[in-house]
Amino acid sequence: MKNYKLLTPGPLTTTDTVKGEMMFDHCTWDDDYKQITQEIRKELLKLAHVSEEEYTAVLMQGSGTFGVESVLTSVIGKEDKLLIAANGAYGERMADIAEHAGMDYVIYNEHYDQVPKAEVIREMLEKDPSITHVAMVHSETTSGILNDIEAVGKVVKSMGKVFIVDAMSSFAGVDIPVKDWGIDFIISSANKCIQGVPGFSFIIADRKLLTESKGKARSLSLDLYDQWKTMEVDGKWRFTSPTHVVLAFAQALKELKEEGGIPARSRRYKENNQLLIKGMKELGIHPYIDGEHQGPIITTFFYPENYDFKFADMYTYIKDRGYAIYPGKVTEAETFRIGNIGEIYKEDIERVVNLVKEFLDSTGK
Ligand SMILES: *Cc1c(COP(=O)(O)O)cnc(C)c1O
Repeated sequence: MKNYKLLTPGPLTTTDTVKGEMMFDHCTWDDDYKQITQEIRKELLKLAHVSEEEYTAVLMQGSGTFGVESVLTSVIGKEDKLLIAANGAYGERMADIAEHAGMDYVIYNEHYDQVPKAEVIREMLEKDPSITHVAMVHSETTSGILNDIEAVGKVVKSMGKVFIVDAMSSFAGVDIPVKDWGIDFIISSANKCIQGVPGFSFIIADRKLLTESKGKARSLSLDLYDQWKTMEVDGKWRFTSPTHVVLAFAQALKELKEEGGIPARSRRYKENNQLLIKGMKELGIHPYIDGEHQGPIITTFFYPENYDFKFADMYTYIKDRGYAIYPGKVTEAETFRIGNIGEIYKEDIERVVNLVKEFLDSTGK
C-alpha cells in the first residue's frame, strides 16, 4: 500500500521512533511497566502546569470520547445538572452522552463559526442555580475554532461551579494553564497533539472533586474514580491496558520534550497553520473561521468559487501524491478541512498547497 501523511487531527502522522516502540510486547503487571504509567501521569501534570498535590492524571482505555464519557458519567451525580456550551459536533456529542446517561442537562448552542460567550453562560448560571457543572470544548475540531475557555472558566469559578473541558485536539498543541484557567477536569487523548497512536484518553482532574465523585459513576468500565484508585496505588491499570500504545506514548512525550516542549510545538503548529491559510488564500480558497478565532490545529475551507469543484476528486489527487485531507463537517456550508498537527512541517504545507494548486489548474472553471 502507498504511504501517505495525515493532514487530519488525529490519528495523525507520528515518528518512526514512536511507532517503533510498539515492536515490544510488554508485560502489564511488571514493575517496569507500571513505572512507565506513573511517569506518564507525572509528565501530563507538568504539561498542564498543575501540582501533584492538587491535581492527578488518570489514563483511560478507549478513544477520546471514552474519556469525555468517563468524566461526565462519573462526576455528575443524580442530583446534579450540567450546562453544555456547544458550537460543533464535539460539543453536541457531550449532550449525546448526557442524553444516553439520562442526565439532567441544558445546552447552549452557538453558531459553528462563533465562540460560546462567557456572558451568556453567566446569565444561564444566574437564572438556573440548580446547574452544578459546565462543560465545553476548547478546540472545536468540527470547524477549527479555538474557544475562549479562559473567559468561561473565570465565570464558572466565580459562580462556584465545576468546569469540564474537552481539550482533545488542543492539549499540548496549545498551552493550557489548567488551574489558572479554572479547569477542574480536562480531557485529551494519546493520538492528538502529544503525537502518540490511538488507544487511550487521559484526564487531568482536581483531586478533591475526583475524590468526592466516589460512587457516582453510571458505568463500570468508565468509572473514573475506580480507575484512578487502582492506578494511584502503583500505576496498574484496572483492566487490560493498551500496552503498545502506552509505550509509544511514553516515547512521544520524550520527543515532545526534545522538540522544546509545548512552546516549541505550539509555535510549529501555528506556523504550519498560518502558512497553510496564506497559501490557500492565494489560490482563492478562504477559511470558514475568522482570523481572530481560528485555532492552530485544523482549518475549515470553503469550496473554491469559479471552479467545477469536486472534493472527492481533489482528495484522491492529493492522496495519490502523499497526503490525506478531511471532508468538511460544518452543516451550513460546503467545506473541507486540512489539519496541520503531527509530524508535519513547513515543507509538507508548501507541498500540499502546491498540490491543491495543481489540482485546480487541472480542473475546469
Ligand atoms: C478527537 C476529538 C474527540 C474524540 O474523538 P474520538 O474519535 O473518540 O477519539 C473529542 N473531542 C474533540 C474536540 C476531538 O477533536
